[in-house]
Amino acid sequence: MTPELTVAEQAALTSGRDMWHTKPAESAGVSAITLTDGPHGVRLASSAENVLAGQPATCFPPAVATASTWDPSLLRRMGEALGDECRAMDVAVLLGPGINLKRSPLGGRNFEYFSEDPLLAGVLATEWVNGLQSRNVGASLKHFAVNSQETDRMRVSADVDERTLREMYLRAFHRVVTRARPWTVMCAYNKINGVYASQHHWLLTEVLRDEWGYDGVVVSDWGAVADRVAAVAAGLDLTMPGPDDAGDGELTEAVLAGRLSPALLRQAADRVRVLVEKAGARQAGGYDQEDHHALAREIAGRAIVLLKNDGGILPLAPEGTGSIAVLGEFARTPRYQGGGSSQITPTRLDDALTEITAATEATVLFAPGYLTGESAAEEGIPAADQPAENQDLLAEAVALAQASDVALVFVGSAHETEGADRDSIDLPASHQRLIDEVARVNPRTVVILSNGAVLATSGWDKAVPVVVEGWLLGQAGGGAIADVLFGLVNPSGRLAETIPVKLSDHPSYLDFPGEHGHVRYGEGLFAGYRGFDARDQDVAYPFGFGLSYTTFAYGQPAAALTEAGIEVRVPVTNTGGRDGREVVQVYVSVPGSRVRRAPRELKAFASVPVAAGETVDVTLTIERDDLGYWDTRLNRWVVEGGEYHCAVGASSRDLRGTAVVEVSGDDAQVPLTAESTLGEWLADPRGAQALGQVFAADGAPTGPMAAFFSNPTLMLFLSSIPLGRMTSFPGSPLTTEAVAKLVAAANG
Ligand code: BGC
Repeated sequence: MTPELTVAEQAALTSGRDMWHTKPAESAGVSAITLTDGPHGVRLASSAENVLAGQPATCFPPAVATASTWDPSLLRRMGEALGDECRAMDVAVLLGPGINLKRSPLGGRNFEYFSEDPLLAGVLATEWVNGLQSRNVGASLKHFAVNSQETDRMRVSADVDERTLREMYLRAFHRVVTRARPWTVMCAYNKINGVYASQHHWLLTEVLRDEWGYDGVVVSDWGAVADRVAAVAAGLDLTMPGPDDAGDGELTEAVLAGRLSPALLRQAADRVRVLVEKAGARQAGGYDQEDHHALAREIAGRAIVLLKNDGGILPLAPEGTGSIAVLGEFARTPRYQGGGSSQITPTRLDDALTEITAATEATVLFAPGYLTGESAAEEGIPAADQPAENQDLLAEAVALAQASDVALVFVGSAHETEGADRDSIDLPASHQRLIDEVARVNPRTVVILSNGAVLATSGWDKAVPVVVEGWLLGQAGGGAIADVLFGLVNPSGRLAETIPVKLSDHPSYLDFPGEHGHVRYGEGLFAGYRGFDARDQDVAYPFGFGLSYTTFAYGQPAAALTEAGIEVRVPVTNTGGRDGREVVQVYVSVPGSRVRRAPRELKAFASVPVAAGETVDVTLTIERDDLGYWDTRLNRWVVEGGEYHCAVGASSRDLRGTAVVEVSGDDAQVPLTAESTLGEWLADPRGAQALGQVFAADGAPTGPMAAFFSNPTLMLFLSSIPLGRMTSFPGSPLTTEAVAKLVAAANG
């Protein structure tokens, strides 16, 4: 497509012009386009000098919050709104969504990622991309792949076995790539099994393009490319940021010297050109800031997860007289997004204190309760040794709580940022003290959390009747919290990640964040709830959990095979007095599976409005592809035949009914060879039959081997011996020739 470009011009096209633009190729009519972060707002640099500060844009809730909605249609609307803002700001590609799995609760960027479950992350991100790209603005699906930690992120090798890679860490990427076709995919900084993602031919070419059919641009994460020639050879198209004249020169030289195929460089340059052309279809436009703020508030309200509501203290009556103590600096100075490249300059910022005051006729009084910022980094310092100011703040807040009818305590994580993992999941000590002291004097204490990744609750949640998980909710979070507290929004958020009792319970605990350049994904397939379930371990709040101001009853689920896969139907009744929304979840188990599996895996979900007293028949579809496991012997996906148990419920540990369906398996016969063990031969009907013919006409073994075959203990002993190795046993009826014949017969 670019014959008119010289090799040097092609090379130049494959690196950026500056921090946020591609390079133009004027002679060929290729213009420059703008790429910018992402993912929960448009962070367009305000000036060439200050590349990190963004112009004002709507700060939508980060992914930790949007994932808790479990509602793809909200993600779609958010993507559309982001697309409109990109059009207004002349941005061609928005750098998101980030869909890496939350492998550990310590992940510094967990707030930017969706879930510990690949289906949930994949379904939600697909709609985000569809929404954005419906505006002719490109997405950048990131960070491809296995970028689930910040520690040593630019060098560490994520060491993961292939089945885990396929079923967990690549699965969401596969879904989004094949269903939403993002214009760009951003490679990760880290290595995967020893090879930089930016230079990973298997990942960028064999999997992404050859298997998944991806034809868009692979862009590097900013600064991820260590070797431009190796990167282009592996399938990377665009290196960012730029300029990288030296690297462009290396590429040119490599082509001229025959060290890099000219076709590969041309292809990379062509893909960049196609991207620029696609971006040309984008029309300028505007957007209504108030509308987008309202959407940000709606999504934030839907993201809030009600963890505990003993005694039905929530919702508070808006017309309530009485008095409300609002405690904690976060009520006045919201924690609403994390640090790093996703940080947005909001168009406006709501705080919970103002919104609560506006929402009620009750008297609202405020006390900050603790210091914020680095000055409050007093982790582990005993109360008596706290800065005097902190002690005074605490005393003031406790006095206010004692004199009020309700105490709303706003606490959360001190900071979360790209570039650094956390070292604890505990609340800052001053926040925990505030909860403890307030709960002692006011039995109607409501804790509202602001955090980008899970916080341990087990040290304090028994002492309070109400816990509201408020995540990082974006610029309209303050209003959304008020909406939930006063019942304008009936909470329907559900946990997209497990809250463990303690950090050391977590499946990733012993292998995070690794050392000396390697992190071993030792828990394998058993990440997140899969690991807690496999070890039958208590959790504080399970994956999928969240309360409502109403209650839901489930009827008997039914499951049927369809062309697409499995259709599950279940009637859900709102048995309470308020309209609400239930997130119906289907977890699949395959009892007796021949491969190791998690006890249950999320395979379908739906967020469904159900009016008070009504029953809705909910239909959920599980696609056959989603039932597959990655067979490492056959090197492909296999749907195992057998009974699939589809458990339907309100969380991974609140399953209300199970429907069983028989699924026919894929043809997945593993060839029998001389290296296959006797046990494997006997377990395979073709193998057992062929063997039987060798030993005796009627299939029963004769001769010296007969004693073994009739002794179960000896059979156990023999079972692990590869058939080819049995030829050397004295008296064995097997010869090398006989084994060759058996192999031919069994596989023929
Ligand atoms: C981040 C990406 C981001 C890029 C551009 C990198 O440090 O990992 O997520 O899109 O910078 O800001």
